Amino acid sequence: MIYFGIDAVLLLVCLMHAPSVLGRAAPPFTVRGDFQLVVDKITVPASAGDLLEGDRIISWNSRSVAFPEMLEFYADQSVIDQRADIGFMRDGTHQRTGITAVAYYQSPRFLFVSFLVGMLTWIVGVFILFQRQKSSSADVLHSALIALAVSIMTTWGRLDASSWISAGTRLLFFLSYAFTPALFLLFVMNYPLRHSGYLRGKSLALISIAASLSILQTYFHLAALYGEPADHYSSFQRWYNIFNIYLLLCYVGMVISLIRSYRRSVRTADKQRLEWILWGFCASPIPFVLFIKLPQLFGITGGLIEEELTTLFFLLIPFSCAISLVQYNLVDIRLVINRSIVYASLTLFAGVIYFLTVLLAVTTFDNETHFKDYLSIGVLIFLIGLILNPARKRIQRLLDLVLFPARVTFRTTTAGIRESLRHCMTVDEVMKTASDHLTKAFPYDSFAMYSYLPDTLVLKEMRGGVYPAEVSLSDEDETAVRSGSVIAASSAFAFQRNDIAGDASSLLERMDGVFCVPLLSKSNTIIGVLTGKSGARSGKFTEEEADLILSLCSDTSQTIDRLTAQEQMIVHQEEKKRAQELSNLKSYFVSSVSHELRTPLTSIRMFAELLRNGNRLSRKRQEEYLAIIEGESSRLTNLVENVLDFASIERGGKEYQLKEINPTDFLQRAAKAMEYQFAQRGSTLKLTMQKKLPEIMGDPEALEQVVINLLSNALKYTLTSAPVSLRAKAVRGVVQIEVADRGIGIPKNELPNIFKNFYRVRHPDLRQIGGAGLGLALVRHIVDAHGGTITVRSIVKKGSTFTVHLPIHKARSL
Ligand code: ADP
Repeated sequence: MIYFGIDAVLLLVCLMHAPSVLGRAAPPFTVRGDFQLVVDKITVPASAGDLLEGDRIISWNSRSVAFPEMLEFYADQSVIDQRADIGFMRDGTHQRTGITAVAYYQSPRFLFVSFLVGMLTWIVGVFILFQRQKSSSADVLHSALIALAVSIMTTWGRLDASSWISAGTRLLFFLSYAFTPALFLLFVMNYPLRHSGYLRGKSLALISIAASLSILQTYFHLAALYGEPADHYSSFQRWYNIFNIYLLLCYVGMVISLIRSYRRSVRTADKQRLEWILWGFCASPIPFVLFIKLPQLFGITGGLIEEELTTLFFLLIPFSCAISLVQYNLVDIRLVINRSIVYASLTLFAGVIYFLTVLLAVTTFDNETHFKDYLSIGVLIFLIGLILNPARKRIQRLLDLVLFPARVTFRTTTAGIRESLRHCMTVDEVMKTASDHLTKAFPYDSFAMYSYLPDTLVLKEMRGGVYPAEVSLSDEDETAVRSGSVIAASSAFAFQRNDIAGDASSLLERMDGVFCVPLLSKSNTIIGVLTGKSGARSGKFTEEEADLILSLCSDTSQTIDRLTAQEQMIVHQEEKKRAQELSNLKSYFVSSVSHELRTPLTSIRMFAELLRNGNRLSRKRQEEYLAIIEGESSRLTNLVENVLDFASIERGGKEYQLKEINPTDFLQRAAKAMEYQFAQRGSTLKLTMQKKLPEIMGDPEALEQVVINLLSNALKYTLTSAPVSLRAKAVRGVVQIEVADRGIGIPKNELPNIFKNFYRVRHPDLRQIGGAGLGLALVRHIVDAHGGTITVRSIVKKGSTFTVHLPIHKARSL
């Protein structure tokens, strides 16, 4: 309450000051020059006495005038229509004339604007006091706002040396003017988070600077008023200039401090609070800088518009601070700082630049023209505007590209996305590419792509944020996703539309996104979803942005659909190819096997018939024929066994009965079984075996078949009657069985293939030699099953050696 009392008293003093603003007097002429005050213009000729433009002012009522501000100081002490005695120099002679002081402000507009701004600021200050009574930030802001209001309302007015109110308001003005920036700086340094400790020192320093500056200014000002003006007023002026530097430093400090707090703050609410203040501080001086200060740099005194109009914009500061403190979520500040504002400022800025360029050009060419003819300037502005329009458009596009890439590059972005998706080969690649494009189009936002497994969404890609690795789906969620429409929280999009509906907010919460776009296939099965949220910088998604996201999702679904279809087609083709291969194999197998079977069968039948009809055959012949029948049937048996074994291996049902055996037995049996074939070919088998071969673990029948197959190959592929040797010995833990021939040999490049199923070396001689390409495949299988290895050495036309290594059974051999 005490605060409010002080505020009210201050307001009262300000209001009492109002008449002196209206009563402020000015000389009827203006001057130029810093040290020699030359009359620049006679503003009210009737009141200016004998003065002419170009006269040099020396004194005001016999008191010397050293610089322009002093003239103002003396005028301030006069009353409107009061006469004053002016001493001046003309043509080297000292002259005097009487002038009449005129009104400083032509209309009460200045008073009106300042008091409007001042009172509104005062009201905001009091409002904050009542809203947030216990917050120290609110206290500081309240003081800052009241100081600002007071400094605006106690602006320069008539100085009455005899009135204590006049001196009092001057003191108040210097105090409030000096404390305003210090208090604002204190406020932003502690906002939105209050710092303790080290800032206290800074606060003290700030307050002391503000206090000293205001005291010094007041002292010299009052000293000039009551004492010798010539000495003290220049000191006052010096302190006033220093004060301006302090003002600028405080302002820069505020902006830097705000930006720093903004970058450090983690919570969105804090950021939003700071955005409001930043906006207020940055936007409010823009008109002042653009319309007053910049033109002044170009030599236009008074600026482009009346200064008091730009003062109105300073109201943004109290209001934005109040909103930030009391209700930061009043409106979405990010919508306030959106594209249109950027465009507007840009256009305004461009306009001012055109204007200044024109002014500069005119000043350069014609110093005398003082731009009274605003119409011609307007036309020039328009023309230059036309010429510069392409540049303006380019700037706008550039700006958009940086700030809102998705909105500007909609068409090129969608085309680019489609093109890169076209090159994707896998579903994962599609999701990655789509996410990459999203990040490029929405640099400030975050997205995640999920693929669908029944009841669950599995995270595939995430950009710009962290999302859960898995999200389980309830039946309800599934139905919502399957419906195809976008599920969105109210904070997601800045517009409403029919295809954006749904309220599966629990799903959104679990996914930690503000929207969820389903990815559906043509047949309406769920492929996955895209979820995301907008970053603090970009606000809600606009309709264009949402459309871009939707189009990207539909392209992604289509691409995944296409890939799945292609995959299915490839699988189908593979299956077809495999079926074809199998059928080819089958017919090849049938023809080669039947061919193989026919030869022994023919001879068996033939010799059997010869036996039946040949009563007169000698005993020896009969024996011979019977041996042939026996030999051929054993060859048949071997072949049939190979085929049957192969079939059972293919079915995966082949099992071997391993037991402890001595290799000598199956080696001898194999040699015996092959005796007939060797004899028939007029060839010989040389069997060399180490005397006591160690025992091995093996299936004797299978191993016998290994040896028979190797021997029959050796015999088959030796076109001469060169002997074949079968050797067996124990070497370094294995029994080594070697079958060597001096036959046609195998080309080096074919060696890796000969153990494959149905593989036969393409050789012109081989056509006469029968075979199904199964023998070695079986050998390899059996050897592998025994934990052994098989190697082959071969030289074409010289012969081949197949060596089988079978591990010795440790228990016995050790
Ligand atoms: P098949 O003898 O029924 O054609 P195999 O699987 O027994 O089938 O042999 C595969 C291929 O290996 C044969 O087609 C043959 O070209 C080659 N081959 C096997 N053993 C020998 C050998 N001792 N000398 C030359 N070539 C051989």
